[in-house]
Amino acid sequence: MCLDLLKKAGQMWVMGQGLAHLHAAIVVAAGRGHRAGGGIPKQYRLLHNEPVLTRSLRALCAHAKIDQVICVIHPDDHALYQNAVDRLPTQFKQKIRPPVSGGETRQQSVFAGLKALAKPETERPEIVLVHDAARPFVSDALIKRGLEAMTLHDACIPAIAVIDTLKQIDAHNKVMATPDRSTLVAVQTPQIFKFALLFEAHQHAQTKDGLTDDAMVVEHMGRAVYVFEGEARNIKLTTDDDFIRAQLEMASSMITVTGFGYDVHAFDKGDHVTLAGVKIPYEKGIRAHSDGDVILHALCDALFGVMGDGDIGQHFPPSDPQWRGASSDHFVKFALDRLHQRGGQLLHADVTLVAEAPKIGPHRKTMIETLSHLLQLPEQRIGLKATTSESMGFTGRKEGLAASVVVTVRMPEKEDHHV
Ligand code: MG
Repeated sequence: MCLDLLKKAGQMWVMGQGLAHLHAAIVVAAGRGHRAGGGIPKQYRLLHNEPVLTRSLRALCAHAKIDQVICVIHPDDHALYQNAVDRLPTQFKQKIRPPVSGGETRQQSVFAGLKALAKPETERPEIVLVHDAARPFVSDALIKRGLEAMTLHDACIPAIAVIDTLKQIDAHNKVMATPDRSTLVAVQTPQIFKFALLFEAHQHAQTKDGLTDDAMVVEHMGRAVYVFEGEARNIKLTTDDDFIRAQLEMASSMITVTGFGYDVHAFDKGDHVTLAGVKIPYEKGIRAHSDGDVILHALCDALFGVMGDGDIGQHFPPSDPQWRGASSDHFVKFALDRLHQRGGQLLHADVTLVAEAPKIGPHRKTMIETLSHLLQLPEQRIGLKATTSESMGFTGRKEGLAASVVVTVRMPEKEDHHV
């Protein structure tokens, strides 16, 4: 009994140590934001075929010190939210907690997020970052600076210098004063706080309206807030113009990369082969550790190739018994996940199968549909060709199959930007 209690106390101590460093982020995505056009709230609009929210979430999840992320969303937006989260790499999805519904104001929405993070009490984070869903360009370096600033203070917000001269005006557009620009800064998100401080400040400010950011909620309680260096590119997408400018800037920071993959497998006893994820009846089978899908294996190597990320044998060693008979779509999903983690986007895949037999003609349509689903690519962005080798060589002698695949990918020039 005594020993059990000691053990329990030990576990709690270890848990406590871990939790003391837990960093959580709240992403405020409950706004309706139709000002930007596009027919849906701006945080779900697409930027280069990806929802703004997906990019904002990827930037936060990619930061090593952020352990969990929770979104505050509008109750009508569940399907849009799910679509945005589904596009994240698996490893990042694991950091995402179920979303909570927002309130009428930003202040109420953040409070809802804080209340969700406060439960259970034993797992409260030490630090919380509050970020606008519509700021998808936040960089890893900015988050790092903010967390460094938090080692000195309890509340830190990113800020940039005000470049334009500011005027104070009255209701008739008459200039009343010119504030001294040198004492002013423009603030951004993520705003970072000790969780306990921000939670207390929001409880304290419940009956107070018009607090437009979290720093103001903390200021209202009379506590100090400090600024750290923000970034001009960390803009909040608000108008249609912002989206146009962002698309242009992103295009200029992306590069197009080509990857090539090649694979061969020998025939063996059996009654089918698997090609592009489709089982094709045949008088022989494939000798392989996995399902021996030459098309999907070549595809994986093409994807690893664009990332300079080794090859399929390195990620899935044939000596590892867990891949025995494995369905090769698992390998492709893994490679795609790694591409998405780097902010890459597959644009096109071109496949050539070299085989005397079996004939793939009758299965072509199913193979393209399967690839389209697996790669999340439109069918017209997938090339699938087959050739014989005119009875020459190992394929000509029907000893096996070969496939080569070329993929075209758009990648951020600098990984840090997550664009
Ligand atoms: Mg292979």
